[in-house]
Amino acid sequence: MTDARFRAAVRQIMPVLALFFVAGQAIAQHPSSFFSYSTIDALLAGSYDGDLTVGELAKHGNFGLGTFNRLDGEMLAIDGVFYHAKADGTVSVAGPQEKTPLAYVAWFRPTQSFRSTASMPVHEFESALDGRLKNPNLFYAIRVDGEFREVSVRAIAPQSKPYKPLVEVVKTQSVHESQSVRGTLIGFRSPAFSKGISVAGYHWHFLAADRRHGGHVLKLTLVDAKVKVCTLSQFEVKLPRNEEFAEADQSKDRSEEIKLVEGW
Ligand SMILES: [Zn+2]
Repeated sequence: MTDARFRAAVRQIMPVLALFFVAGQAIAQHPSSFFSYSTIDALLAGSYDGDLTVGELAKHGNFGLGTFNRLDGEMLAIDGVFYHAKADGTVSVAGPQEKTPLAYVAWFRPTQSFRSTASMPVHEFESALDGRLKNPNLFYAIRVDGEFREVSVRAIAPQSKPYKPLVEVVKTQSVHESQSVRGTLIGFRSPAFSKGISVAGYHWHFLAADRRHGGHVLKLTLVDAKVKVCTLSQFEVKLPRNEEFAEADQSKDRSEEIKLVEGW
């Protein structure tokens, strides 16, 4: 290759390299925060409309989960792409203008990783994880890529006003099952003290490898999985300024409602 040709080739790839550099810097510069938009208790109370767009949410993390306004399906974010799983079982890429009433995101930088080859239900996996995550009072973002069996996920259809509380609405949830599927578990473990804001303990969403199916995990068995954990020692909460949030009764303990809603 001549000098002139080499310089031309470099000029061509520079913008691409610069983009990777900027994206890498963005992740590296952000602190390891667990970012919460709104509170789980507001959602349980029926506060299903938020003001935060997916585009704004993406400035706070590249990995996470949540739902969309009117409780229209489930949100799954991975590698900076935000997906929308709908009640009919389909998944599409969410538009930057779509809004969320509740979402949790983080910049995913693994701090530990391991392989899990034993076949086990998700609850057993959670116990195994508890043994590895040394500090139960921090937040953890957990990404699990691999093969799964007996995957059962749910998504809820959009609601109409006046909104009913979430415990009522979940009775109408759509459940989709797959016997054997490759994909990714997107999850967080939140400490007990964060209850009311986050889901204390584990919260998982599943996205199939073809990015066409997914939702909130009700049941699942891990077969062979690559596990990456990202420890988060900062906790940031942004609250909606709308009337619905102002009127949501967040004075009572909703722990029992969470168990029903999460499908435990
Ligand atoms: Zn969920």
